[in-house]
Amino acid sequence: MSSSHETEYRCPYCGKPFSITVYDSVSVKTDPDMRERCISGDIFRHSCPHCHTDFMIQANLLYLDSDRKFVIYLSSEPANETLNALGRPLREKGYTLRRTETLAEFTEKIQIFEDGISDITVELAKYDSFIEFIDNRNGRAEEVTSVEYQNCNDGVIKINVRTDDKGLSFLIPSAMLDEEIRAEADRFDISDEVFPVINGDWLIDLFREDGNPAA
Ligand SMILES: [Zn+2]
Repeated sequence: MSSSHETEYRCPYCGKPFSITVYDSVSVKTDPDMRERCISGDIFRHSCPHCHTDFMIQANLLYLDSDRKFVIYLSSEPANETLNALGRPLREKGYTLRRTETLAEFTEKIQIFEDGISDITVELAKYDSFIEFIDNRNGRAEEVTSVEYQNCNDGVIKINVRTDDKGLSFLIPSAMLDEEIRAEADRFDISDEVFPVINGDWLIDLFREDGNPAA
């Protein structure tokens, strides 16, 4: 079951109040239409009935896919104890739990888990693509605007490194990265958090903490 609540909102453009529906949680098994609205970001899109301006309001959202066994908590703040207590038994049942801070990370995470691969593997693939772009394609770090997961076909992960005026795709076999993760299981251990954030910053911090810069 998905859940939502109505709240009074003041339009940031014309200043007039109106009522909006804010979703607290979405279950895609019971509400498959909500999946589309999450991926497109429409779930956060609102329109002022007075001045008809469209805008986004990103509220905390819990996204549950019970068929593929993953839960993503979209929030700029860590999960509170109530949510962690809800998450622990799910994790014991084999669910993957994550927190994402931005809408872009949220939608990418849904795609990664729907493709049935590990997001830790994907973050390593992104990092390797970034390094490849800098070291062997004469790219400059400061011109990179984003590094994005595209898809995974037959065990090969496709990553796009984007700059303002171009994009370069990299194909990386996931087996090689999975092996690297298995060999350093302690380093990649995330069991101390119920809803861990797994993104590019997380990966960089991981190598930095070890005093062993990734290269
Ligand atoms: Zn308005």
